[in-house]
Amino acid sequence: MRNPRDGSIDGAIDGSGGRTVAVLTAATAAVAFVVTAAVLVPWQPLPPGTPPPPDAAAVFSPAQVARAEEYARWARVWGWGGLAVHLALVCALGFTRVRRLASRLPGPWWVQVALAVAAVTALLRLATLPFGVAAQEHRLRNGLSGQPWAGWARDVLTSTAVTTGTTALLLVLLVGLARRWRTAWVPVAAAALGGLVVVASLAYPVVVEPLFNEFAPLEEGALRSAVLEVAEREGVSVDDVLVADASRRTTTLNAYVSGIGGTRRVVLYDTLVDSVPQDQTMAVVAHELAHARHQDVVVGTVLGALGAAFSVAVLGLLVGRERMREAAVVPLVMALFTVGSQLASPVENGISRRIETRADVEALKATGDPVAFREVQRMLALRSLADPTPPAWSHWWWGSHPTVLERLALVSERG
Ligand SMILES: [Zn+2]
Repeated sequence: MRNPRDGSIDGAIDGSGGRTVAVLTAATAAVAFVVTAAVLVPWQPLPPGTPPPPDAAAVFSPAQVARAEEYARWARVWGWGGLAVHLALVCALGFTRVRRLASRLPGPWWVQVALAVAAVTALLRLATLPFGVAAQEHRLRNGLSGQPWAGWARDVLTSTAVTTGTTALLLVLLVGLARRWRTAWVPVAAAALGGLVVVASLAYPVVVEPLFNEFAPLEEGALRSAVLEVAEREGVSVDDVLVADASRRTTTLNAYVSGIGGTRRVVLYDTLVDSVPQDQTMAVVAHELAHARHQDVVVGTVLGALGAAFSVAVLGLLVGRERMREAAVVPLVMALFTVGSQLASPVENGISRRIETRADVEALKATGDPVAFREVQRMLALRSLADPTPPAWSHWWWGSHPTVLERLALVSERG
């Protein structure tokens, strides 16, 4: 039978040809991901003979442990509560007939798609807003943030706008490709999405970071010289050392190296520059430079691009081209991507924790200063009220970094 919409033959649309191509695309992306991860991820980052993590009681006072656990308890209630509501709502919108409302939106298909994305994103943000407010209130009450509510609201609006814009772009692309190509849309969309991950990773430090922070060059002096010296020792070329005005919204300490190749900058939070002795700042900077040395951002970007290509191919198999051509697919795709990203979280974070451990090991080698490493790890944990012993399953699922006790095992006495 002729399909009145595009004149194609029913059955041929989602026929075995399209399915085979989608299966091949998924298999190719999966094999490339596994090979890349097997070769480039440091699966055994710990030096041989590293002792097990010390007890929390050996590192922190009982009062410090109690305070961090009390903070973490409520942070988890608000964090997990918000996630549960987000998942429940996006599944309710995506997996039921409600999603068909999207096809009643005005305008041509791409306007409908963009409006549907905006509507779903706004609903999700509104539904989870009470949890976000409670979490921010919790941070304020515990001194982890001093950001006024107006600034916080501005950040929420900015991140909602960024999420809406990027998701709308992505969905218009996916739907547009499904409308354009009958069998090739899955591999084309997989390649396009993988490419977008690469572009986003390159553009993020230039486009998104300035929306949230202002940067100024670190003034000439001992700290700047020390940063450039350790960079040279680790064999990393650095174009500039910048300070971000992160203290406007957080009291936590951080630094990162951003940019690939020609635009590499070491960025220090002003909290780190202003309140930490230089040897401890250098322990943090050396860790970030170790990431740069191993091109960890590039490895993460390649793995992310392959993961994105894989997820598009699976999407093609689950949804099929015919449904993919209409705006009503938007809530369904958003639900599948949300569930999929949660399912992928242990893989992503398992890789991340190993890369972080390697950066710690190499930072210690570069600075030769286990005392500063130990002190800064203790202080980072205290300042962020990090739970030294989070539930194992939650750490396995969502923990992007080793726990403070796992990190301190690197400088424990060898047993
Ligand atoms: Zn790191």
